[in-house]
Amino acid sequence: MKKIYIVTGGSGFIGSNLVSKLIKDKNNYVVNIDKLTYASNEDFVTHKSHSNYKFIKADIINDKKIKSILAKYKPNFIIHLAAESHVDRSIDNPKNFISTNILGTYNLLNESYNYWSFLKGPKKMNFRFIMVSTDEVYGSLKTGEKKFTENNVYSPNSPYAASKASADMISRAWFKTYKFPLIITNTCNNYGPWQFPEKLIPLTLSKCIKKQIIPVFGKGNQIRDWIHVDDHVSGLIHILNKGKLGEKYNIGSNNEIKNINVVRTICDIFDKISQTKGKKSNKLIRFVKDRPGHDTRYAIDTSKISKLGWKPEINWKKGLTDTINWYLDNTKYLKRIEENTYSGKRLGVIKK
Ligand code: NAD
Repeated sequence: MKKIYIVTGGSGFIGSNLVSKLIKDKNNYVVNIDKLTYASNEDFVTHKSHSNYKFIKADIINDKKIKSILAKYKPNFIIHLAAESHVDRSIDNPKNFISTNILGTYNLLNESYNYWSFLKGPKKMNFRFIMVSTDEVYGSLKTGEKKFTENNVYSPNSPYAASKASADMISRAWFKTYKFPLIITNTCNNYGPWQFPEKLIPLTLSKCIKKQIIPVFGKGNQIRDWIHVDDHVSGLIHILNKGKLGEKYNIGSNNEIKNINVVRTICDIFDKISQTKGKKSNKLIRFVKDRPGHDTRYAIDTSKISKLGWKPEINWKKGLTDTINWYLDNTKYLKRIEENTYSGKRLGVIKK
């Protein structure tokens, strides 16, 4: 019997990497539900002709559509990643974040709960819903303060973080009130292939490639905790198999780095790989007006997941070098987004 996974947001950055890992196992059948917003990677998982993969273009807000997909595919597991995910966009236009991240999550939870209620026997007992969330729900840490554990009170600062915190709270209520079998995961900043180039790492790299100004918020002193997307994906699968129902788990890599150091490292690796002659890429760095309400530091404690026998495998420098090589081998991906030729509906906005 195949294990049937529904992945929402499977055409986005983390979703693409999760789906490609899951479909390698022929015992899995993966249904990807994605609305295909500007942030999705259509050419990767949308049209991929794997016999154990199905793409369905749908909005998680559409409860009737979600209900019919659940009734047709009868999943064993649901991994929920669909979201509006870029903090700057949440500051400019919070409504989409409230709609997808809060209402969309509610719809998905409610329909999944209705579906699960009618299951019987082992299929009901073994069913799992994974709510994929972020470390940004915990708020900001000062230098020297202890890393966030799963017990920290939520204190979100941006509209994005607030929408994800709300979704986590709604998920928690579906477990507490309805005993719906779910687990919440909170992860830190991911990096790796297929990330939309408005996020720090691919943005910096695309500027290096084009020899354009590299913008850095404030003085670049904000600290983020970085995990390779493959490690995050392996953590999600581990939690799905070993996590305790109703619990929260941080998935992180214990890898705190200042933004400016991330940018400088990318410049150095890029110059080395591309054998840059003359002006070095780090000369392109410019400090720009800081983001309003910019959190100073995120860092998550991963002792809880490590007690379940999981640890990250990918070394930061090696993971970053591989990521840079991936983008350089796939410049078509960056170019296409910039040219806004993608389905004629992409924003094609790369933050300057
Ligand atoms: P992404 O923006 O790259 O992809 C999101 C995907 O969701 C896109 O393919 C988009 O089309 C889809 N989507 C958006 N709205 C939808 C809707 N209403 N219905 C159906 N599909 C919709 O995001 P990502 O970076 O891959 O993040 C995935 C999840 O992980 C999100 O929930 C995010 O909050 C969380 N997360 C991401 C990071 C990170 O560093 N990228 C860190 C922590 C948590």
